[in-house]
Amino acid sequence: MTYDLIIIGGGPSGINVAISARKAGLSYLILEKGMVVNSLFYFPVNMTFFSTSLKLEIHDIPFISHGDKPTRSEALEYYRRLVQSQQLNINLYEEVKEMMPVGDGSYTVYTTKGDYHARAICVSTGFYDTPRMMSVPGEGLPKVKHYYDDPHAYIGQKVLVVGAANSACDAALECWRKGAEVTMAIRSGEIYDRVKYWIKPDIENRIKEGSITAYFNTTVSAIRPTEVDLVTPGGPLTIDNDFVLAMTGYQPNYSLFEALGLPISDDDACKPVFNEDTLETTLPNVYMAGVACAGKQTSKLFIENTRDHGGVIVRSILGKKI
Ligand SMILES: Cc1cc2nc3c(=O)[nH]c(=O)nc-3n(C[C@H](O)[C@H](O)[C@H](O)COP(=O)(O)OP(=O)(O)OC[C@H]3O[C@@H](n4cnc5c(N)ncnc54)[C@H](O)[C@@H]3O)c2cc1C
Repeated sequence: MTYDLIIIGGGPSGINVAISARKAGLSYLILEKGMVVNSLFYFPVNMTFFSTSLKLEIHDIPFISHGDKPTRSEALEYYRRLVQSQQLNINLYEEVKEMMPVGDGSYTVYTTKGDYHARAICVSTGFYDTPRMMSVPGEGLPKVKHYYDDPHAYIGQKVLVVGAANSACDAALECWRKGAEVTMAIRSGEIYDRVKYWIKPDIENRIKEGSITAYFNTTVSAIRPTEVDLVTPGGPLTIDNDFVLAMTGYQPNYSLFEALGLPISDDDACKPVFNEDTLETTLPNVYMAGVACAGKQTSKLFIENTRDHGGVIVRSILGKKI
């Protein structure tokens, strides 16, 4: 069969696009390499979203949470219910590997399980699969984590948290509160401005009172099983260490973009090149949706400000059919 639309990625954005397609009567299929909202499943277990549930809900389907800002488990529940109640057509645990134009403007999409044909493609693959590496010796040791899940693992341990954005501050505070000895290595001179307003004073005060040691203007130069080398403004420093939480951010999967044939901008953002009004890329009938649109500028887009993507893409597809 030829689908009107194949959606690559079953995160919040892929689900949003699928509901728009379904409402418009388009035939569609979501191909998701993991579980439903795979990225959210790997968010820290105790995390709370910075957005209110009202700002996250899509297609006027209510997102009920206990507090104003939902937790990870409430978000998992919301998206699970969306997929099931809307009876979305989604293939799970099926990874897209590449895509080929067929010649008439349609595409064949190749996955780990088969191939599919569609008149339009939506790429909504997010950025959470590819951590930004520090590229230092020892980064591949098992004690180095690029995803933080649960503070319980770090009770009584010497933990180095690398970074100063939301994930780093959340991890540092949680681990310290559970009894870890926390040190932070921060490349800049201060905690980032965009850290959640209720977290920033907390982390700054823990640093000021000496509960958490922070080295500013500092980078990691090497990691060994029981030590880490830092480069501080005062010179090289070696500290004892059990675990490194490298909260250095994430970026889209550029090898996938290459395998899909997506042209990428040659500026710092490295964004897939697309029309801002229609979200159609320079590959005809191939659309971008969700946070993947921002390329390396991962703090620019989030669920809140990409909720219109489903409607925009489906309107563009329908416009071409007339
Ligand atoms: C810790 C954290 C907290 C956040 N808090 C908020 C918040 O409060 N509010 C807000 O608006 N935003 C927040 N964001 C940002 C944003 O909401 C999330 O990144 C969100 O997951 C983006 O949705 P998405 O669908 O665009 O991408 P994703 O959720 O990353 O979905 C992409 C999907 O594509 C799949 N995929 C990838 N490659 C392939 C492939 N080759 N084949 C098939 N499937 C593939 C992935 O498995 C994944 O399920 C947060 C982000 C993080 C990391």
